[in-house]
Amino acid sequence: MSQDIIVIGAGVVGISIAVELVRQGYKVRVLDREGVAAGASQGNAGAFAFSDVMPLAAPGIMRKAPKWLLDPLGPLSIPPRYALQITPWMLRFWRASWQDRHDASVVAQSTLMDLAKAALERQISSTQGEALIQRDGQMQLYEGEKQFRASLAGWELRGQHGIKYNLLHSADEIAEIQPGLDRRFTHAGFTPDWINTTDPKAWVEHLARCFEAAGGQIERCTVHSLATEGAQAFVRHETGEFRVDKVVLSAGAWSHQLALTLGDHIPLETERGYNTTLPEGAFDVRTHLTFGNHGFVVSRINGGVRVGGAVELGGLKLPPNYKRADVLLEKAARFLPGLDASGGTQWMGFRPSLPDTLPVVGPSPRAQNVIYAFGHGHLGLTQSAATAELVGDMVNCSTCAISVDAYRPDRF
Ligand SMILES: Cc1cc2nc3c(=O)[nH]c(=O)nc-3n(C[C@H](O)[C@H](O)[C@H](O)COP(=O)(O)OP(=O)(O)OC[C@H]3O[C@@H](n4cnc5c(N)ncnc54)[C@H](O)[C@@H]3O)c2cc1C
Repeated sequence: MSQDIIVIGAGVVGISIAVELVRQGYKVRVLDREGVAAGASQGNAGAFAFSDVMPLAAPGIMRKAPKWLLDPLGPLSIPPRYALQITPWMLRFWRASWQDRHDASVVAQSTLMDLAKAALERQISSTQGEALIQRDGQMQLYEGEKQFRASLAGWELRGQHGIKYNLLHSADEIAEIQPGLDRRFTHAGFTPDWINTTDPKAWVEHLARCFEAAGGQIERCTVHSLATEGAQAFVRHETGEFRVDKVVLSAGAWSHQLALTLGDHIPLETERGYNTTLPEGAFDVRTHLTFGNHGFVVSRINGGVRVGGAVELGGLKLPPNYKRADVLLEKAARFLPGLDASGGTQWMGFRPSLPDTLPVVGPSPRAQNVIYAFGHGHLGLTQSAATAELVGDMVNCSTCAISVDAYRPDRF
């Protein structure tokens, strides 16, 4: 038990893991080049999206994708400068969308979500975090009968995986839960068990304080490479190296670069997402609103409103294109006629995404004492507490609560 462990990355995944490991009695240090919640964990939509068990790589996606791609500011885009680099990932994504792989992914995602829900409740209670939690459910909105009918198979599938939902069949029924929506939204699916945090950054900062209060350390440090020799692991940085018993790599969208220094090729890409956060009073958001057919969501953050989404397969280096955030905000103003769209702050974040929509959670195939925990895509906040418990089991060599085969780093 007197093992020294380094966790690389102080996002929601790394900090959740650190909290779990220090709770188990390990000596834990978190390294991050920018500090706590500097990456995607800072500005996301704040949803613990337990009903999102349907992978993006779904049958028929490759038929829809070209239509979306024709609109450079549409819900899915590939900047021409990145088209060649993203091609191998897209081919894997396409293979993952075949029915057999898709069905296996739904099972793997649902299994992880069941654990995520229970693990989050344990995390909220053990860190006394309830004040940062909103339990208002989520509403997925549809414009007209045709869109709604097309969604029914998905709702049935969610039901088969134990997700509670109510279907709403009129604008009046919708208004009972969320007043103020444009009446073009005639149908909806409501998931009452969906949870949000009041602010994703504050949530990670809260977990970081709990970690430090329990004896953990957080240091600013840019990690350059990893190595192992026997039972020892080496974390090399700007000015030297740390020698420890175990390393957990949870550096979000940058994790594959460090995995490569051990010789592991992991097809991690980033789905860049955009949002605008409006100040308190911009709109009375009563539940998390999902406009799935337009690729964006509206959530309540610190009493204000966050409007965001979009998927831009543009890698880690291209500058942000904030016209994407403008387009989402314009749409939100049309869909929520009373929205005060002024005074917002724009943000872009790097979702760390694997082509089959599942994360990587497991030891490096080349070094058992380096555990990978990254690639949660759109669901890193949602699955952070579950990932922390799984990594905790892996570190202390106990059997994991669920089968982790689907999340193996060497599955590609
Ligand atoms: C617009 C948008 C909305 C989203 N909404 C939701 C949502 O509602 N619910 C949900 O579950 N998920 C959502 N997500 C996804 C979620 O934000 C991510 O999956 C999650 O934050 C990933 O967490 P992480 O800890 O793996 O990575 P990050 O938060 O990106 O943290 C990685 C950390 O690693 C550090 N790092 C990287 N390289 C190095 C290095 N070499 N040395 C030292 N440190 C390093 C970085 O500084 C960073 O702090 C959303 C994402 C976006 C972009």
